[in-house]
Order: sequence, then structure tokens, then C-alpha cells
Amino acid sequence: MTALKAGAATDVGRVRQINEDRFLADEPLFAVADGVGGHQAGEVAAQTSVDTLRTAFTERTAQGLVDAVMAANQAVWQLAQDNSEKRGMGTTLTAVALVVEDGEDQLALTNVGDSRAYLLQHGELVQLTEDHSLVEELVRDGRITPAEAQVHPQRSIITRALGMEPAIEVDCWKLIPYRGDRILLCSDGLTNELSNDRIASVLRQLADPQEAAHDLVRQARAEGGGDNITAVIIDVVDDGGRAEKASAELAREPRAPAPTPPPTVTEKAPRAVQGSTSTATATRTRPPVVAEVATERPRRLTWRVLAFSLLVIAVFGAIVLSVAWYARSAYFVGLEGERVAIYRGRPGGLLWFDPTLQERKPLTLDDVLPVHHSELRAGKEQASKAAADRYVNRLRQEFDERRAASTTTTAPPGRPTP
Ligand code: MG
Repeated sequence: MTALKAGAATDVGRVRQINEDRFLADEPLFAVADGVGGHQAGEVAAQTSVDTLRTAFTERTAQGLVDAVMAANQAVWQLAQDNSEKRGMGTTLTAVALVVEDGEDQLALTNVGDSRAYLLQHGELVQLTEDHSLVEELVRDGRITPAEAQVHPQRSIITRALGMEPAIEVDCWKLIPYRGDRILLCSDGLTNELSNDRIASVLRQLADPQEAAHDLVRQARAEGGGDNITAVIIDVVDDGGRAEKASAELAREPRAPAPTPPPTVTEKAPRAVQGSTSTATATRTRPPVVAEVATERPRRLTWRVLAFSLLVIAVFGAIVLSVAWYARSAYFVGLEGERVAIYRGRPGGLLWFDPTLQERKPLTLDDVLPVHHSELRAGKEQASKAAADRYVNRLRQEFDERRAASTTTTAPPGRPTP
């Protein structure tokens, strides 16, 4: 048996005159609606959507929730058609309901617009919904970064809302509730003022959902309160032993690398739901949010992972040692400025192993035949220090012999030196 405990708070903020946000926290149904439209029409749209949602949610399944959202859309749209001064009004609607699917308790989540749902599980905060907003589309197309979206002047423009069309596409997810899970529903007045890190921090620190909702709203107001602010928090306080059972099952499989409990989200969502009178439905290409939920969970270190890591370290160590040995095993004769010198290592160095000076020779470039200059500048490799010494001696010898020979040949033949 799943048991929930909820808290909710809303505030007009510090700029707006009217609070056009509405919420519903009436187990098993929870929702946040953020109305848009002048002359108090936004307020009417948001109120109509939550009222209709409450009365239309009669079948406690995920499809039942989707149907109720579509009924709410119809109600807002019809009201706008019947009242010319309310034309163009609309509202976001993010809702969660405790439902029964395949004989077990699940949480159904639906979203239209840019109000959001987050899940805090094992201290990690994950955004479950995707905003239907202009900036979100720009981010998805790679035209702006998420950071730019956060301060974009048109960040309040939504691309999908209840009441704009007679039929609507509804994103829907199903989640398995585990004890300790905490879900936050909120309007953009909260997320525009507080970073995800700050929201997560409040959700981790305040155990009571009512206190946490109040504190989130208070902090968003303190940060500027540029818009109406609403937060609904739903805690899973009992899951009928589901989390423990899942842990126990995993514990029986000694080498299972999966974390406990298993991934929360059961359905690859969202599901595009088309209304009966809809003429066009956008093709959805969004990345599956649920996949993020599943992959972001911590992995347990198994002996296989450990053995593989040790192997990688050993192989890497062997490569480094081989390179070091190769880099340091040779000598070469080169130049230190104009002076001939013997170095240990490879000319120019190898990776991070630079050659080191072993010995300066009493010989400059002027004492070496020009034919050897280029090889000395490049560094003449030798197998050992002794070989390098012999090479230097040979250079000196060649130079002396050539000088002796030129002295002999330039002296006039047969004439005695004075
Ligand atoms: Mg708003």
C-alpha cells in the first residue's frame, strides 16, 4: 500500500498584482497550473483547469489522468470561446496522480507547458518533464545554451498550453513510487529564481513537505519574485515494502551490478496523446527523460570492474615504463650552444622525457669539419656513452688530420721553412 504526504505553497511574488498560479494537493491528485492571459483571464484558465481536472479524474489509471487533462483543456478552450474577453487565455498544467496499473500502485505524471516536475531520489534531483517553451526548443536545436535560456528575454513564451486549441498533446510518464522519493511540481516563478542545486538543497534539508514548499517559495520571493511562485511537494512515505523487496531480490543475485532499488520509471515516455478532434499532432523527437533517470543512478563497484581497472592500470604502467626505458636508453652527441656535448636520451626528447646533459667536450663547432655540422645540430645518436666518446674523438681526429693535410699542401714544395 502506497502512502503519500504532501505540502504546497503559493505566492503572488513581488512584481505581479494577481496570482494566476493555481495548485491542487488533494490525494490522490496533485497539480500546478500557471495561467496566461490579460484581464484576469489567466487566473480563470488556471482555476478552470484544476477544477475540471479534479472532477474529470475518475478512472485511476495513467490514461484516466491523460483523459482528465484533455477534459480540462476542453473546458478552458470552451470558456474562452464563449467569452470574447477571455479569448487567448490559457494555462500550463503539470499533474501527478497515484494510480493503479497492472495491479500495482504507480504514479502517473502529465505535463503541458513550462511548469515542471522534479524527482528527488537518493538525494539526486532529476527534472522529469520537458518544458514546452520557446527557449527549450532553441536549446534543443542547439541555437542557445541552457545557461542562455535561463536569462533569455523570451523565456516565458510557451509553445503548448491548455485552452489554445480544442485538442491537445499531453506528455505522460509512469513512475514506480519508492519510500523516500520526493516529487516537486512547480511553476516557472520558482525555477526562474532558484537554480536546480538550490532547489535540491532545500528538498534534501527540510523533511516536512509543507515546510519545504514554504521555504522554496520564500527563497524564490527573496531572489526577486518576478512572477507568481508555486510549489507542491509529494513525499512517498510508504511503499508497502516495495523498496526493501527490490533490495532483497538484488542481494540474492551476488554479481548483479544494478543499484537498489531498480529504476523508478517503468515506461519510456513521454507518450504523445492525440485528442479526438485534433487535426495535427507534432512529431516528438525529445530525448527520453526517463532514460536519464535510469542511467544517472550510481553503479556499484563489482569485482569485474575492479579487476578491469587494475588491468588497465597495469597495462598503462607497462607502457609508461617501456617509453621511459626507450627514451633514456640512448645517447647522442649534440651542441650546447656552439659547444659539442654528450646527452642522454633521444634528440628532441620523447613525450615527457627530455634529454639530459652528460658531458661537455672541449670542442666547438669551429673544431669540427663542416660536413658534420648538420648532424651535430640534429643530434647524432649513439648506442652508449663509450660510443659517443669515440664519435667525438673521431670528429677531433678528422679535423686535425684535415688541418695537417691542408697545411702540408699549401706549403710550397721543396722550399725549406725558414
Ligand atoms: Mg509563471
